[in-house]
Amino acid sequence: MANFFEDNPSLLFQLDHPLMQRIVELKENHFSGENREAYAPQDYADALENYRQVLGIVGEICGDVLAANAERVDAEGPTVVDGRVHYHPGTQQNHDALAQAGLYGMSLPREFGGLNFPMVPYVMAAELVSRADGGFANIWGLQDCAETINEFASDEQRRQYLPLANQGKTFAMGLTEPDAGSDLQAVMLKAHYDEKRGTWLLNGVKRFITNGDADVSLVMARSEEGTTDARGISLFLYDNKKTDCVRVRRIEHKMGIIGSPTCELVFKDAPAELVGERKLGLIKYVMSLMNGARLGVAAQSVGIAEAATREAEKYANEREQFGKLIKNIPAVREMLVMMRAKTDAIRALLYETTRYVDIYKSLLHIQRERTLTKEERNELKEYTRLAEMFTPLAKLFGSEFCNQVTYDAVQVHGGTGYMRDFPVERLYRDARITNIYEGTSQLQVVAAIRSVMTGQLTQRLTFFAQQVKGEAFAAEAKLLAALTEELTQSIEQVQKAENPNYIDFHARRLVEIGGFIAIAYLLILDSERCTCEKNCFEQSARRFVRYAEVQVRERVMLINSITLEAYLADYDVETPEA
Ligand SMILES: Cc1cc2nc3c(=O)[nH]c(=O)nc-3n(C[C@H](O)[C@H](O)[C@H](O)COP(=O)(O)OP(=O)(O)OC[C@H]3O[C@@H](n4cnc5c(N)ncnc54)[C@H](O)[C@@H]3O)c2cc1C
Repeated sequence: MANFFEDNPSLLFQLDHPLMQRIVELKENHFSGENREAYAPQDYADALENYRQVLGIVGEICGDVLAANAERVDAEGPTVVDGRVHYHPGTQQNHDALAQAGLYGMSLPREFGGLNFPMVPYVMAAELVSRADGGFANIWGLQDCAETINEFASDEQRRQYLPLANQGKTFAMGLTEPDAGSDLQAVMLKAHYDEKRGTWLLNGVKRFITNGDADVSLVMARSEEGTTDARGISLFLYDNKKTDCVRVRRIEHKMGIIGSPTCELVFKDAPAELVGERKLGLIKYVMSLMNGARLGVAAQSVGIAEAATREAEKYANEREQFGKLIKNIPAVREMLVMMRAKTDAIRALLYETTRYVDIYKSLLHIQRERTLTKEERNELKEYTRLAEMFTPLAKLFGSEFCNQVTYDAVQVHGGTGYMRDFPVERLYRDARITNIYEGTSQLQVVAAIRSVMTGQLTQRLTFFAQQVKGEAFAAEAKLLAALTEELTQSIEQVQKAENPNYIDFHARRLVEIGGFIAIAYLLILDSERCTCEKNCFEQSARRFVRYAEVQVRERVMLINSITLEAYLADYDVETPEA
């Protein structure tokens, strides 16, 4: 049967990246320490072999169980009975298969039943699960909440709640409310401390909560009466199985990811525990939780794009028109090769970002146990900055390309693609959410624009340029250097207008210019590193550079054409609508 890890050499290639040595060293505390668990890896090679074996198991379950259930789960979906969610039997089977194989709590420390996996193999598992079933990936991926508990909760809470992940208990993240979507500062679900009962109580409504009836929920609530901004919000932990104070009013009827129940929840005097310090809920803890979840959506996007690309390749290899296979018609071939290039592109960006996240997260954990050396402090600073810069790019490009790839996958199938008989119709619907939740694409731009305007992203592009070694890509490298120069000029041009609305107006174009160039470099670097005979990434790299050139130039032209004056006359939000 299909093994989604073994049939995709790109994953092993990313797992073998040179930075993995440092990542594993940090995660395993240099393979030393007094309290090392007997089953901890002995060295780097041992750790890598362990990741490969576990990912092989994930790949097998994905191919044999999750992918096999995906269609009927999508057709029938979950139900709500008496305010409680019932998973579709296929979803339950997926969950049980992964739980029995110990594949929940993958990144948690071993002392809590976890596998102590770095983010790279964990995110890789998320990609595999998403390729099999993008909807189920949400239920599995909410184990991210346990990572937040590990980072910020008290020792007692960690001891109590973290082992639950490995036992297959489920998680949810309750942030959104009817009047608080992109603007989470507007959260109004109320938390007050009941002196008599000696506990916090939650009251109010949450909307659009994935897996809202999970065993354990992290809930953002307003703990400071009379406040209206982020400083009045704290994070709480609600144990669903201890009480019955949160009812599922309904689950949404959605376009896609149907197996994943999206709940409207009513909290009525629901007892909850404070996580960390009051008032840091949104400012610190949820930002960290959301950054993890954004990486998860980026992985979901790569998984769905991989599935769609494969479906299209398979169909084009079988379908004949005008006396030939449609894959041999240039217009179809172009769609196919660009789907592959875009999927390779977002995978390269995803794992580059994940490596940054891995290093800073491990250093943060080490910092809790001992003082970091000066070099380690610098490393922490550098990788935190890179992770903050690249996480919104990975989410933005991952989700937008995933949408484009699934759109083209339907197109390659022609009328058949519009029917429910083939998986691409589901993949197309599942893809549509990826650029909406965990912050819409517009909000990813808001998160990324600062590093573009301050020139930090350009610096990283220059660093990438210095890594390109061989002659094979000399022409592409020259072109990318010229495009980087155009980015610098565009930034200056927008900046000198000194009009915040004008900067917001061009923000997406500027972020995307930087992103296209960054991805093009990453594909070239992957191609240079690849030693296999057919060089898996060379064609994608060359095709993507050409594509990026056009995309960048189009955006530069628009920035040049819509000057401040043109903006004020035709687009400004202050200008009345005609
Ligand atoms: C299927 C599904 C599952 C979800 N799961 C969860 C979950 O588990 N937990 C949870 O807490 N939430 C969840 N959500 C909520 C999700 O994160 C929000 O829907 C999303 O953040 C957008 O918020 P909104 O829907 O209120 O849109 P709005 O915030 O109303 O946005 C409307 C439009 O305005 C744009 N916009 C808003 N502000 C800005 C700005 N400052 N700059 C530029 N553009 C802007 C947006 O990009 C969008 O185009 C889920 C949503 C869905 C649909």
